Amino acid sequence: MLSVKKCFFCGGDIIPARGQAYIRNDGAVLNFCSSKCRKNALKLKRDPRKYKWTEKYQSQGKR
Ligand SMILES: [Zn+2]
Repeated sequence: MLSVKKCFFCGGDIIPARGQAYIRNDGAVLNFCSSKCRKNALKLKRDPRKYKWTEKYQSQGKR
């Protein structure tokens, strides 16, 4: 069975052939669903909970 990985940034499912992995200096593997998420997390260091297009934002619940 294939295990579906979740995107480190947006929390969405990663399509196996399209995902991008990044290995951090401390050895942790970060998986991203797209270069967009990769860029936001690594270069821009954005908080996914502040962006409406991420699942992490949507899973916060309503306030
Ligand atoms: Zn993503």
